[in-house]
Amino acid sequence: MAPTAECDVLVIGGGVAGLSVALTAAPRTVCVLDAAARPGGASAWAQGGVAAALGAADDPAQHAADTVVAGNFHNDREAVDRLTAGAPAAVAWLQALGVAFDRGPQGELMLGREAAHGHARIVHARGDSTGAVIMGALARAAAQATHVRLLAGRCAIALAQDAQGRIVGAWSWNGEAIELWRARAVVLATGGYAALYARTTNPATSDGSGAAIALAAGARLRDLEFVQFHPTALAVADCVESLPLLTEALRGAGAMLRDDQGQPFMADVHPRAELAPRDVVARAVAARQLGGHAVYLDARMAVGSAFPERFPTVFQACMRAGIDPRVSLVPVSPAAHYCMGGVRVDAAARTTLDGLFAVGEVAGTGVHGANRLASNSLLEGLVFGRTLGTALSDDLPVAGGAPAPCPRVYRPLDAGTRRALGERLWNGAGLLRDEAGLARVAADLARWLEAWPAAASGRDHLALAQAIVSAMRARPDSLGAHWRTDYPHAA
Ligand SMILES: Cc1cc2nc3c(=O)[nH]c(=O)nc-3n(C[C@H](O)[C@H](O)[C@H](O)COP(=O)(O)OP(=O)(O)OC[C@H]3O[C@@H](n4cnc5c(N)ncnc54)[C@H](O)[C@@H]3O)c2cc1C
Repeated sequence: MAPTAECDVLVIGGGVAGLSVALTAAPRTVCVLDAAARPGGASAWAQGGVAAALGAADDPAQHAADTVVAGNFHNDREAVDRLTAGAPAAVAWLQALGVAFDRGPQGELMLGREAAHGHARIVHARGDSTGAVIMGALARAAAQATHVRLLAGRCAIALAQDAQGRIVGAWSWNGEAIELWRARAVVLATGGYAALYARTTNPATSDGSGAAIALAAGARLRDLEFVQFHPTALAVADCVESLPLLTEALRGAGAMLRDDQGQPFMADVHPRAELAPRDVVARAVAARQLGGHAVYLDARMAVGSAFPERFPTVFQACMRAGIDPRVSLVPVSPAAHYCMGGVRVDAAARTTLDGLFAVGEVAGTGVHGANRLASNSLLEGLVFGRTLGTALSDDLPVAGGAPAPCPRVYRPLDAGTRRALGERLWNGAGLLRDEAGLARVAADLARWLEAWPAAASGRDHLALAQAIVSAMRARPDSLGAHWRTDYPHAA
């Protein structure tokens, strides 16, 4: 099949990571494919902000130390140092692209503080609309850049491989037909797989597509057992695809968790109460729910009438659900939020397949260890994305041979299977997991895979789910976000 287009660099995914690569890869020609009609993925939904050691008493070494403590010392230290050292320049780059971070009365950058950060170091824009503001600026810059072509509504369904197994492009579905895109370098920037779970804070596009097609092509994945669950998603019954997030900054501002008797409970669980590490808070909420109690966030005193101004995104989400958070308790639930693992990459963002790179949440860099420090993931997309784009602008991989025919037909998971998969993962491979539950999910997945047509694209998501469950079974202990109720003592 003749390629629809040839370019130097093919970026799959137009979130913060993908556009950071694209913008810095000039003068290379870059095509950015995105499955969504309006790219931006989870990046556009980010609320808290971007972590960077910008305060007078702060420095990248302290940011790195906090990152490693949050990651339960399971982090790749070298990656952490690169991430935190690159943070101030990444923020400056965004400012140069026109991002107006919120400022205080003297014109100084306002630095927010989030759980497990030793300093106030979170820059944010328009309150809790940081992701939307950043993506607006990146998308505008990409639209103006003559070396970048943004191609929305194109879902990558397979990587194109030559006879030697080198990645030479990708196959995508444009709603009517399969297209082939050829490139010297292919960059996965498709985001995470939290939306495979029935309860998630992520958009539907965070369904692990990038990891799934990389796995199908033979790439190695890593750390899939480490999935972060956010403790406070808005628990609304009619949210089919994703639950609106109630940012941690609310608890930072003093909002409290209460059970259905109106009692606060976090002080009994952890010395830092509401500001305990995210996974501790999430498990405490889940434990209350398992005991048959609803859990609420109470921001009436802490935020009250300032809600619309300080947390406009959360305020609108609550009001849409018929809850006025200025005067009412807000029902909450944990939800799958962020994936620490992904496609294994080295320090140069190279995967184990020649010609294939990965950045952002799809990448398994080891930088987050067993648990991500809040506001380090937009940063990861920016820092590692810019590093990769700059490297590709200097040096492209050698050209590969002709691609083998497309190994897939477009047949994604139907709504029923996707819902069943989400429920199985939520119940058996979720926040609290044990061998018996994981084994049941694994058996279901094996049955579904056997029945699934070999060439249908949806099987790659089932195979990814199988790899996630296998990783959870292969770590019989509790570490960071990986909490096994049959091995409850953290290693
Ligand atoms: C509600 C919410 C709030 C958050 N708040 C923060 C925060 O304050 N600070 C922070 O650091 N992090 C935050 N995060 C996490 C952070 O937003 C993500 O980790 C980060 O944005 C991921 O960026 P990315 O570019 O890797 O992926 P994404 O931004 O998800 O972009 C991936 C893109 O790939 C496209 N895509 C997916 N599959 C395919 C395919 N098969 N073919 C083509 N295109 C495809 C998608 O459409 C999407 O546009 C938050 C996440 C959520 C959900």
